[in-house]
This record gives sequence, structure tokens and C-alpha cells, in this order.
Amino acid sequence: MELVETRNPGEQEFHQAVRGVLDDVVEGGLDDELERLGVLERLVEPDRAISFRVTWQDDEGQVRVNRAHRVQFNNTLGPYKGGLRFAPSVNPSVLKFLGFEQTLKNALTRLPMGGAKGGADLDPKQLSNDEMMRFCQALMNELHRHIGEDVDVPAGDIGVSEREISYLFGQYKRLRNRYAGVLTGKGLAWGGSAGRVEATGYGAAYFTTEMLEHAGEQLDGKRCAISGAGNVSIYCAQKLLELGATVISLSDSDGTIHDPEGLDADKLAWVKQLKLERRGRIAEYADEYEADYLEGETPWSLDCELAFPCATQNELSSEDAETLIANDCLAVIEGANMPIDADAMRLLRSEGVLIGPAKAANAGGVAVSGLEQSQNAQRMSWGPEEVDRQLREIMRTVHAECVEWGESGDGSVDYARGANLASFDRVSKAMLAYGAV
Ligand code: NDP
Repeated sequence: MELVETRNPGEQEFHQAVRGVLDDVVEGGLDDELERLGVLERLVEPDRAISFRVTWQDDEGQVRVNRAHRVQFNNTLGPYKGGLRFAPSVNPSVLKFLGFEQTLKNALTRLPMGGAKGGADLDPKQLSNDEMMRFCQALMNELHRHIGEDVDVPAGDIGVSEREISYLFGQYKRLRNRYAGVLTGKGLAWGGSAGRVEATGYGAAYFTTEMLEHAGEQLDGKRCAISGAGNVSIYCAQKLLELGATVISLSDSDGTIHDPEGLDADKLAWVKQLKLERRGRIAEYADEYEADYLEGETPWSLDCELAFPCATQNELSSEDAETLIANDCLAVIEGANMPIDADAMRLLRSEGVLIGPAKAANAGGVAVSGLEQSQNAQRMSWGPEEVDRQLREIMRTVHAECVEWGESGDGSVDYARGANLASFDRVSKAMLAYGAV
């Protein structure tokens, strides 16, 4: 940790992510050979990080400049793989934490994927559709040099969905004159995979089902609070509803809607239209369905049995954790990456609240991205049932690995520990095999 802090001064998110893993990995002592070959030191240092200027023109003809990055963290298990994020908060610390986590998450899926993350310090809400097209084209003017189907395969993340992936791929194709699977999250009509849009949210719901069953509980009838109203939140809500749970909240960066009766399929279809097509604000839901709107608030004060933070990092604090514990919340499932801050995580774990850690619970998205790569390589496309079958199987396996590595003598499971140990085992063994590279 000292090395990480000295070498990456001020990069709090990165420190937090590394500490979360190292605490578990070094607890039982490290194998001598792992130490001699500097596996930990290598694992916490990205293979390379590329930063570049993105110059583009807005609708008024004004030239604008943003900064973009691609952190190629670790390609031990396969080509670099991880999303692109467009958000004002994007900086090297955030991308390093995401790239580090991605390396371990991808290992858990057992698919041949290394870890990476990228993005730009852009607020997509401020851009028109045409401006977004020009921005994506300008970003690809540099990014195309660093990606490739056997090198690095970016996907979406916050602020980057099918629209942005389409613009990025269109420009890649124009620049390189190649039609290759260099991005995932593509449209169904041009190389995308069935089930990719739904995969992260559905996967989180499948993981929750497994966790609850293992604890002798069931999802049916459970009251679920979800944060966010983007890709992960919406499809997580959809699958939870299908599995018989009650979803009482969604949110965005302005506030939370609370619908005590619960969302249903019609309400959710309306939210999809609002957030994914009209790009509106979740507050409109409260007017449409006479629900409560908690301006500027997160959903964690609501009485729920399951909490699904699905918006962004560090969105659930120790005060939130105290409220959830007081409300007898059974489990917190991380749809987003590192949404539970370090103090809240300690508190929830010490009180025995089940945690579905991000690198396991939200691995469904990258897993189906991996399946998209396989389909592209075969020049085939599989139907939605086949993709869903494979997604379920992968989530079941990820869950089983967490149990194998995280179960204590009394039968309780520390899923965060299990996910850290299982993924570290897979990556570190391959790193040892390659020697000191
Ligand atoms: P989207 O951009 O589709 O949605 C993000 C949602 O979170 C929006 O409702 C957004 O509100 C809200 N949000 C974003 N930033 C903040 C903030 N600072 N405070 C409060 N709310 C915020 O992103 P995704 O659903 O794709 O991603 C959400 C999380 O899931 C991220 O942590 C991402 O890394 C993780 N993830 C995503 C995967 C995927 O396949 N997409 C895969 C695995 C993990 P607003 O509209 O106001 O910005």
C-alpha cells in the first residue's frame, strides 16, 4: 500500500480499490514465490496508461477540448477489456481503480479477458446528438491506434451506451478500413450480442438469487431499493420484477423517486423511454405516477430488505449503512463499481449484512461482452435464449467460486473476500507462469 500511495499520490479511489483487495489477499500470508516474483507489485501497476487531447467543435462552431484516457491495466488472461466512461469526474485515479477491479472481475468470469478502463472528462448531458457524434469521432481519431480485437476491446460504461459505441465504431471503420470486433455493446444489427444491454442488471439479479438461496432465503416478495436509472439499474429492476421482487426506488444525480407500491412492467417501460430515449430526469416519474420525490437524496433511507447501489462509486456512506442495518436490510448488492465506501463496507461486513461485491455481482455485463467477442470472432450470432443461458451459468459459477473461497467454518460466506481471493488466485497463477514480465 505504501508503494501504491507514493507512486499514485492523491489518487484516493485507486488506493481504496487496491486496499480493499490487498487486505484480503495478504491476510493469510503470501506465498514466497509470489513475493519473490513481485506479483503484487506488478498487479497494482498498470501495464500502460495513455492520455490524450480530444478536440471537437460544438454546435455553435466553438472548438472545445477534453482530456481522454485509456488505462490498459493487465493483459495476463486475455486482451485488455473494460468500458469507456464519459463523466465530469473521470480522472486517472477513477480509471485506475476501475481498471484494477476490471482485471480481477474479468478473471472471475473465466473468459479470456484482461482488464482496462478508459473515458473522458465530459458531461454528456450538455451535448446535443450531433455534438456527441463529433466528440466520439474526435476521440476515436486517437484511440484507434491503441485498440484491436486481440489487443484491447473497449465497451460502454457511465455516459456511454449503444449510441456512443455506434459513433465510435463508425469512425474506427472509416479510419482503419476494417470491420472487426474492436468494441462491444454494438447494435444488434451490426455485430452486437443479444442480451448485452440487459446483461449487467440481469446478472446482478441472478447473483442475488444465488446468494439468497445459499442463505436459505428467497427473492420472491423482497422489497428492493435501487439507485441510478441507467443501463444497470433499469435492467436490474426488470429482472427483479420478473423474479417476483418489489422495486420501490430509482434515482439519478438529482434525486430519488420512492414508489411504495412498487414499479411494474408498464412503469418500467415508461422509465426506459424517459431515461434511455428521451434522456429526461427521474423526477418526472413522481409526477407521472404520484410517487414521492426525494430531491438531492439517495434511496438508502428507505425501508428495504435488499439494496442495489447501481449508480456510481462511493454512493453509499457509513451513515447510509447504519440506516440500512437499523432497517434490517439483508443484503447490499453492488450493481455499480465500488458504490459502498470503505467505512460503510467495514460496517456492513461486521454486522453480517450480505454483500454482493461488484467484481462478482456486476460481472454479467463484461461476461456477455466476452460472448459478443466470441460471436464476432466466429462471425455468428446467438439467440437471446442461448446468451441468457450462458449468462446464468457464468453467474452461477462466479457465485460458487465466491462461496468456495469465502465460506467460514460456521457456513457464513464473506462474498467480498471470496471474490478477491478467487480472482487473485487465477490472475497470480498466470503471472507466475509467465515469469518476470
Ligand atoms: P448509465 O450512464 O447508464 O447510468 C448511470 C446512472 O447513475 C444514471 O441514472 C446517473 O444519473 C446515475 N449517476 C451517475 N453518476 C452519479 C452520481 N455522481 N451521483 C448520483 N447518481 C449518478 O451507467 P451504467 O448503468 O452503465 O453504469 C452504472 C454503474 O454500473 C457504474 O458504476 C458502472 O461502472 C457500473 N457497471 C456498468 C456496466 C455496464 O454494462 N454498463 C458493467 C459493470 C458495471 P444522471 O442521469 O443524473 O447522470
